[in-house]
Amino acid sequence: MLNRLRNEGYRALLFEHKALGSDQTVASQGMIHGGIKYTLGGALSGASEAIAGMPAYWRSCLRGEGDIDLRGGNILSDHFYLWSSSSAAAKVTTFLASKAIRGRVDKVTKAERPIPLQNQQFKGTVYKLVDMVLDVPGILQLLAGRVMESIYQIDWQHAHLTSGNQTEPPTLQVDIGSETVQIKSNALVLTAGQGNETLLQQSGANAPAMQRRPLQQVMVKHRYPHSFYGHCLGAETTPRLTISSHPCEDGSQVWYLGGSIAAKGVDLAPDVLIDHAKKELSTLLPWIDLKEAEWATLAIDRAEPQQHNFARPDQAYASWASGCTNVIAAWPAKLTLAPNLSNQIIRMLEERNIRPYGQSPQPLALPKPAIASAPWQLAFGN
Ligand SMILES: Cc1cc2nc3c(=O)[nH]c(=O)nc-3n(C[C@H](O)[C@H](O)[C@H](O)COP(=O)(O)OP(=O)(O)OC[C@H]3O[C@@H](n4cnc5c(N)ncnc54)[C@H](O)[C@@H]3O)c2cc1C
Repeated sequence: MLNRLRNEGYRALLFEHKALGSDQTVASQGMIHGGIKYTLGGALSGASEAIAGMPAYWRSCLRGEGDIDLRGGNILSDHFYLWSSSSAAAKVTTFLASKAIRGRVDKVTKAERPIPLQNQQFKGTVYKLVDMVLDVPGILQLLAGRVMESIYQIDWQHAHLTSGNQTEPPTLQVDIGSETVQIKSNALVLTAGQGNETLLQQSGANAPAMQRRPLQQVMVKHRYPHSFYGHCLGAETTPRLTISSHPCEDGSQVWYLGGSIAAKGVDLAPDVLIDHAKKELSTLLPWIDLKEAEWATLAIDRAEPQQHNFARPDQAYASWASGCTNVIAAWPAKLTLAPNLSNQIIRMLEERNIRPYGQSPQPLALPKPAIASAPWQLAFGN
C-alpha cells in the first residue's frame, strides 16, 4: 500500500509498532491464489472470481511489469497442487474436470506429480493449480527497502492519536526527545490488521467493526529433502489439509500445515493437535518418515471486516470510518488481494479529492522497524 501511494506521489508515512509483516503476513502460507480453493463446493463464487486474475497480476509485478516492481522477489513454488485421496467426493473431482475452470487447474500425470506424491502407494488424483507461493519475508524486505525513508517505528507509550472532529482527521502526536511532534494528514489509512480495532476507537470511529477468525496452524521441521505445496481434498468443501514448505537457514525445512486441521484445531491443546497432525500425515502420506521431526503450533487470528453470519469476506475491504473525518479502515482479507486493496484506497482518496500535494515531510528522529521473523524461526530457532 505504501509503495503504491508513494508511486502515485502521495507523501504517505507508515507507522509500525512491532516489526513489518507481524501478526498475519509472515504467518501466512504465502499462497497467491487463483481462487480454485474456494470452488471446492462445486460452483464458482464471488470469492473465486474476484481473485482469478491475481496470480497473473503478481507474476507481472515479479517480472517488473506491474504496478509495483517486485523483481528480485523469490517464488518458493510456481504451482500449488490439489490432491484427492481415493475416497474424496466425486462431485468435486467432476467439477475440477469441468470446462468452467479449464486453464486454472490441470490434472497431472504420474511423472508430473510433486515428489511427495510419486510413491507407488499413492492412489489418488493430483491437479496442478495456477496458484504460486511467495517467500513473504523476502517480498516484505523488497517492498520496505524501496520506501524505508517513509517508514517509522512507533511506540504507543510515547505517542497517541487524538480523535478527529467534523472536519479534521485524527492527529498523531509523538514524543521525540523532549518535544511532542504533531503529525497532521489529509487522511489516515488504517491497515493494522487486528490493530485496526483499537485504532478505530482511538480515532473516534464507531464503524466498521472487525471480526477475528481464529486458527491453530501446525509446524513440522524435518530433514525430508523435498518441499511440498498442496491441498488435500477431503469430504468437505474446504481443504482437509494444506501444506506449504518453508526453507530454514540450517538446510532443513518446515512444513506448515493449515486448512481444516487449523480451523478445527483452534480449541485443542497444542500437543493434542500435534498428535492429530501426526496421524493425518501418516494416513495421507505414510511413506514419508517424520519420526525425527520437531513439532510446534501457532495460534493466530485472521482479522477481517465484520460480516453477516460471520461469513468469510471474499474481497479486499476498505471503507470510510463513520464518526470521524477521512479515516479509512482496511483489511485485505487475503495477502493475494493486497493489490486490490491498494487500488480501492487510491480510488477512495481521489473520490474525496485527496490528492498528492506539498513538500515531503521532514524526516522524523524515530527508529526504523525490522521485518518480522516467520513463526517457524521463532518456534525452532532458525
Ligand atoms: C495462518 C494464516 C495463513 C494465511 N495464508 C494466506 C495465504 O496463503 N494466502 C493469502 O492470500 N492470504 C493468507 N492469509 C491471510 C493474509 O495473511 C492476511 O489477509 C494479510 O496478511 C493481512 O495483512 P495486513 O497487513 O492487513 O495485516 P497483518 O499482517 O496482521 O499486519 C498488521 C500490521 O500492523 C501492525 N500493527 C498492528 N497494530 C498496530 C498499531 N496499533 N500501530 C502500529 N502498527 C500496528 C502489526 O504489527 C503488523 O505489522 C493467511 C492468514 C493466516 C492467519
